[in-house]
Amino acid sequence: MIQVDNLSYRYPGTTIPALRGVTLHVPPGQFCAIVGPNGAGKSTLCYALAGFIPHFYHGALTGSVRVDGLDVPATPLGELAGVAGLVVQNPFNQITGARFTVREEVAFGLENLGLPRDEILSHVADSLALVGLADYAEHSPFALSGGQQQRLAIASVVAMRPRVLILDEPTSQLDPVGTKEVFAALRSLAASGDATVILVEHKLEWVAAFADRVVALADGAIVVDGPPRDALSDPLMEEIGVGTTRYTRAARLAQAQGLVPPDRSLPVTLDQAVEFFR
Ligand code: ADP
Ligand code: MG
Repeated sequence: MIQVDNLSYRYPGTTIPALRGVTLHVPPGQFCAIVGPNGAGKSTLCYALAGFIPHFYHGALTGSVRVDGLDVPATPLGELAGVAGLVVQNPFNQITGARFTVREEVAFGLENLGLPRDEILSHVADSLALVGLADYAEHSPFALSGGQQQRLAIASVVAMRPRVLILDEPTSQLDPVGTKEVFAALRSLAASGDATVILVEHKLEWVAAFADRVVALADGAIVVDGPPRDALSDPLMEEIGVGTTRYTRAARLAQAQGLVPPDRSLPVTLDQAVEFFR
């Protein structure tokens, strides 16, 4: 579904590349989390997948980016809209300001796609329900809390039913309950085969519990890529400043003190920790 090969990119007027030789293949229906310290290139990779690079941000791009068979740099943004949907890092930037209600806000992109009215209404209702905003359909987008605006930004993109859903730190304003709801919603979208999900996220414990795969970026390059348990317990995660889950930390400590056999593979979730310490 996503085929990025040897992608390198420099923003205009900069000398240091924001992405360096990134190769990432993501099959349909996978829920792939991207982690990495600030400045690692996570948002830049999202822009490249959604076509914001090179259509908004010019600069120097080499390598290839294909999404659902489309050559992204060669495809007009209008054509990419139904294919790759991006929820940007700051939800306030995503709200159009042109609509009076949450329902109208979510319908905005669909109206631009020219969908029939009953289809628009059902897509809007489905996506508001998915993010837990069904009761807020008639509220003003600006009367919402930060977390609710973040849910609204997700709903607006989900409503377009993109085959690839890209979310850049979509839970930064959400409390643990909201975070869990968003992760569960993304999990179900991916599991139902409705979308391939690329999620940039710092909350490692949620990533560990919900994602199929974890990719870590540092200085514009992929340094770790694997199933959550392997990737999140990789010592490189601490070295690049991503850190690790509390379960892995506790397990390492226990192993260092000889409390647990050294050959047991490290846990990254609560369930795995229970098994590990048994
Ligand atoms: P992350 O999302 O992982 O924090 P970014 O993708 O935002 O990282 O940034 C990667 C690198 O690209 C950083 O060095 C950052 O300073 C640089 N960068 C990001 N946006 C721009 C821009 N619009 N112009 C120039 N450099 C940028
Ligand atoms: Mg970012």
